[in-house]
Amino acid sequence: MSRRPIAQQPRAHVPQRPLWLCRRCAQPWPCGEARLALLHEYADDPARLRIYLTSCMHDALADLLKLNPETAPTAETTFTRFLAWTAPRAARDAADPAVRSEPSPARLAALSSLRLWRARRRSI
Ligand SMILES: [Zn+2]
Repeated sequence: MSRRPIAQQPRAHVPQRPLWLCRRCAQPWPCGEARLALLHEYADDPARLRIYLTSCMHDALADLLKLNPETAPTAETTFTRFLAWTAPRAARDAADPAVRSEPSPARLAALSSLRLWRARRRSI
């Protein structure tokens, strides 16, 4: 396991400023490979990863606004790109409407019980 910071690894997926595209794969940074590398690098300290990425997000917003204010990403888009993916799985699921709309087994059981209770009330 390499413990060298991502920026020191050969041919790493690092940002090219001021465009904030990956130097290696040209995807918006952090690209998928960069995210994996960052999660690995900061596995023991996820709070420090979020602090680092908050700094990157701040710099990216400033750079992209300076380059072209008309096409600069919104704060929400930038937050999703830089930070939302670092949240613990449970927090991401709670914020995701697609996941949130799917009932859990406990909710399904509760709904089933409620339907049975209503059916019994109607039959009395
Ligand atoms: Zn990349």
